[in-house]
Amino acid sequence: MSDQQPLVLVVNSGSSSVKFKLLPADGSSPLLSGIAESLCTSGPARLIVRQNGERFTEELTSTGHQNALRAILSLVKSNGWIKRVRAVGHRVVHGGERFTESARITPEVIRNIEACTDFAPLHNAANLLGIRACSELLPSIPQVAVFDTAFHQTMPVEAFTYAIPQRFYRDHGIRRYGFHGTSFRYVSERAVELLGLDPDDHGLVIVHLGNGASACAVRNGKSCDTTMGFTPLEGLVMGTRSGDLDIGAAAQIGRVAQLNLAGVEALLNRDSGLLGISELSSDFRTLEDAADFGDQSAELALDVFTHRVVRYIGALATSLTRFDGVIFTGGIGENSARLREMVLNRLRAFSFVLHAQTNRRMVGGACGRIDRGSHTQAWVIPTDEEAMIARDAIRIAGLHQQGLLRAA
Ligand code: AMP
Repeated sequence: MSDQQPLVLVVNSGSSSVKFKLLPADGSSPLLSGIAESLCTSGPARLIVRQNGERFTEELTSTGHQNALRAILSLVKSNGWIKRVRAVGHRVVHGGERFTESARITPEVIRNIEACTDFAPLHNAANLLGIRACSELLPSIPQVAVFDTAFHQTMPVEAFTYAIPQRFYRDHGIRRYGFHGTSFRYVSERAVELLGLDPDDHGLVIVHLGNGASACAVRNGKSCDTTMGFTPLEGLVMGTRSGDLDIGAAAQIGRVAQLNLAGVEALLNRDSGLLGISELSSDFRTLEDAADFGDQSAELALDVFTHRVVRYIGALATSLTRFDGVIFTGGIGENSARLREMVLNRLRAFSFVLHAQTNRRMVGGACGRIDRGSHTQAWVIPTDEEAMIARDAIRIAGLHQQGLLRAA
């Protein structure tokens, strides 16, 4: 990599942390990555950094997002890289119906992100803190917003409409939006390359299984249905989120536990999912270990998780006109050979035949096909949301047109 290669800073600003990656525009490995955490607590904030395969921690003298970003930028400066930073890419959780693709940040774009804040109050407000801090600290560098929801804006109306009085959609925007869009976009583009598909005639079901989990049907590069809804609570079972639940059951929980709506919402977001079923942990690996030692609740949690994934792969396939592949991604999808085996064994009606040995090798960032020549292929493709954000930032900042890049 040339020392003159432009750099992109990718920022994922959450409510109490800022994750970052400094990426060369040619797509090579990050020069720097890490997380500033505990930004809103009374305890000391700290910066955990990875550089050249090493990890080190710095105590931050003050809290807040702007101070965290100042510390991150002074690290970039001390390494002599600041002049090469040509764009900043920001993850933004909710773009509502206003954003169908990534956008260069302007005062109007900021107003539109603010207008979507009601849909994801904690997330969008935190994303805006990062955007404002970077705009102040790097005023002459283009800032680009990349939305989790944007990829799903191609869903047809019958897929995004909830069967509720339509005034709630018209007046309050209540509909399915879907999330993990940056991951689905990255993985679907990789899948077209790896599976050798026709970009204009293919169909995929991608399951992004991590602490948050969702699945997406992709037809000819476009999302046509997804499992998450108005918020990231709907759909698959997740670490601490219930996924689908009869609202009648939710109302009864409220009555028996004497919780108001906000209390029920918190219970379904924070105390449910794998954690709620197992009463042990939200962490998939911990539950696999516990199940191996005979813990029946852990085993039940894994079974319910698997059942929901299988059910949705079947359901989403009906949105496709051809079914070329199921793709596993996310921390669980990329690392749990056991989960993938359980899922594919239960999808026999789709004629999947697992290649057990290859499946066991596909862990820790490996990428490859795990079926034995089925008509519909099964693959593990690691996601890279930061690479996608950096790519959008490069394109929208116009680094190609400025002749700053050879081939990215
Ligand atoms: P993510 O949110 O994408 O970082 O994924 C986090 C989830 O991936 C957690 O539930 C982890 O337990 C799970 N995970 C990570 N590594 C493994 C592994 N080797 N085997 C099973 N699950 C894993």
